[in-house]
Amino acid sequence: MNKNILNSPIGYLQGVGPQRAEILKNELNIYTFKDLVNYFPFRFIDKSKYYKTNEVSEKLNYVQIVGTLSNFKEIKQKRGSRLTAEIIDEEGKIELVWFKNTKWIKKGYNTSKKYVVFGKPNLFGSKINIIHPEMELLIEHKSSIQGGMKPVYHSSEKLNSKGLNSNGISKLQRKLIPEIIDYIPENLSEKIINEHKLISKKEAIKSIHFPSNSINLQKAQFRLKFEELFFIQLSLLKNKLINKEKSKGFVFNKVSKNFNLFFNQLDFELTNAQKRVTKEIRKDLNSGKQMNRLLQGDVGSGKTVVALMSILIAIDNGYQACLMAPTEILAVQHFKTITEFLSHSSLNIKLLTGSTTKSKKINIIDSLKNGTIDIIIGTHALIEPNIAFLNLGVVIIDEQHRFGVEQRAKLWKKNSIPPHILVMTATPIPRTLAMTLYGDLDISIIDELPPNRKPIKTLHIYDNKRLQLIAFMKEQIQNQNQIYVVYPLIEESDTLDYNFLMDGYASLERDFPKPNYQISVIHGKMKAEDKEFELRRFIKKETQIMIATTVIEVGIDVPNANVMIIESAERFGLSQLHQLRGRVGRGVQQAYCVLMSSFKLTDEAKIRLETMARTNDGFEIADVDLKLRGPGDLMGTQQSGILNLRIADLAKDTQILKLARFTASQILKKDKNLSQETNKPIYLHYKYLEKENFSYGKIS
Ligand code: ADP
Ligand code: MG
Repeated sequence: MNKNILNSPIGYLQGVGPQRAEILKNELNIYTFKDLVNYFPFRFIDKSKYYKTNEVSEKLNYVQIVGTLSNFKEIKQKRGSRLTAEIIDEEGKIELVWFKNTKWIKKGYNTSKKYVVFGKPNLFGSKINIIHPEMELLIEHKSSIQGGMKPVYHSSEKLNSKGLNSNGISKLQRKLIPEIIDYIPENLSEKIINEHKLISKKEAIKSIHFPSNSINLQKAQFRLKFEELFFIQLSLLKNKLINKEKSKGFVFNKVSKNFNLFFNQLDFELTNAQKRVTKEIRKDLNSGKQMNRLLQGDVGSGKTVVALMSILIAIDNGYQACLMAPTEILAVQHFKTITEFLSHSSLNIKLLTGSTTKSKKINIIDSLKNGTIDIIIGTHALIEPNIAFLNLGVVIIDEQHRFGVEQRAKLWKKNSIPPHILVMTATPIPRTLAMTLYGDLDISIIDELPPNRKPIKTLHIYDNKRLQLIAFMKEQIQNQNQIYVVYPLIEESDTLDYNFLMDGYASLERDFPKPNYQISVIHGKMKAEDKEFELRRFIKKETQIMIATTVIEVGIDVPNANVMIIESAERFGLSQLHQLRGRVGRGVQQAYCVLMSSFKLTDEAKIRLETMARTNDGFEIADVDLKLRGPGDLMGTQQSGILNLRIADLAKDTQILKLARFTASQILKKDKNLSQETNKPIYLHYKYLEKENFSYGKIS
């Protein structure tokens, strides 16, 4: 035997024939012995804990009860029959239910004997029962449990059909691991292992599959999570180092006319967060390396002003600037804002979108090439191949999650020396996650709103309070305020959503009749120019209510609109709710966000609505979102594949992540090529991962 045993095809394992091998490949990507060893349990059941019958609730995932079996009853049903029994302890009793194998069950188990019953409690009417429990005679149970932590592996129907449910997989691990454990190499250095008091790789593998107790399990989990996160961070930081060394950038060391003119006419002072972030950007622009920076900040935190200052620095140094937005509406709005901010200057600012006329476009293409345009603002139209610049110095990308990775890269390539890049996002994500997702970007955060903003008041009400809502809306309109009413949009059912919105429209028209009230509607089925028209009516205050689907989620800026009503709010995700709420609170009036929902709410929906009502802080909301959904579902993370972690959880393991990142950065500081002898185990594993197509650094 040799080290290659780890790469043996899984079919060679005793108990895995060709059929099982095929299914393991297809369902779990398990091709080799090593793949199976690295297939970890996702959960553990503490078999050493016993519940009393009165402690059992349907909220518990699993319970284990010791009691006396009694009272078998067979109940005839439409199809077949149902068997029930009771398990009784000194505190009370719980019903057990079987639908299958009832004859065998009745024969196989003895009433009046003591059993250990294991299963998932359900609420049936007002009674708790356990369906198809696992049962074991107490005496046998006592001799069979060791340690008491039972691993649970993810399985699937297909795996199940070949006997590979969780227990089946566990059996395979029992066969495999003793055979190969001695060949599993250590992949961390002694120094790291000692410093962080980690257990060895071998021990960790043994304990994760067969934990002898909860303390050893925790040690194994810690070691394996650390290792997983460590190699991700090592890869990210290594790539960042390489990029930094490679990527030359323009040096913008002058701050002169344009910047100063703008800065001096601002009628507000920058917030401390804006000042800090501006400093970070100026340092980058002066460093001789390409800036790759992510600017995170809540809606209204003043990112645009910061971006504009970066633009003006580029111009002061003789370069052009470009701002790219994900939608036409947003691009137009940026164009207006920036034109207004710079109205005192003689800079040439142009807008390029999908609906720019041909003749204008030809003109713009020429003036970008010959350098007469200083600032170009636009949509995806900016990355078409025929767009070229004389000297593009800085690129601002708004709302990053709507742009794909390749689209960003296209802008990079418009110069021989890449322009400085600033990506702005109003979808805050927790820093730990950002560090991983945007590995090659530096991160700046504006975590402070401009002063004198009144926090938006958010409340959640049920549909039965609609009359009060309408009275409230009338009062707001009386005070010259404007109102958004947003309906959910689920792509798979366009028509349904459309009808839903139109029903809402009809009922609002009854409550707010013409000519006293005017209502605008914007939805996905309208043409772009019709949307523009309706939006303009609302901006001009010709209409008081704007009914819309989530098309208004990003960017619309109507300071006079101070009420955001979200219908069926339980159907929206947290970050979307937060984005929508960000549409109000831009004017002087107190702003409100009203979340309407039915009474039927899942636990998760309750938490979402409750979180919205509690806080306006985008980062706090992002944290809750991450905990509820897990990182895989967060915006912009789907395509990256980075979050298919084996064991670590970016939402929960932030402390380990920080430790792993710190450790990786320490190592690279002293040994950036991992060439020192002491780091050899790390180097070998890193190379192996690289070969396996693992390159986190290249994702953003
Ligand atoms: P974001 O792009 O982050 O959503 P904006 O840059 O559009 O935010 O700023 C929102 C509003 O706040 C704008 O009207 C802007 O002029 C104003 N603003 C920005 N910074 C400040 C500040 N420091 N003090 C007062 N108002 C500010
Ligand atoms: Mg903005």
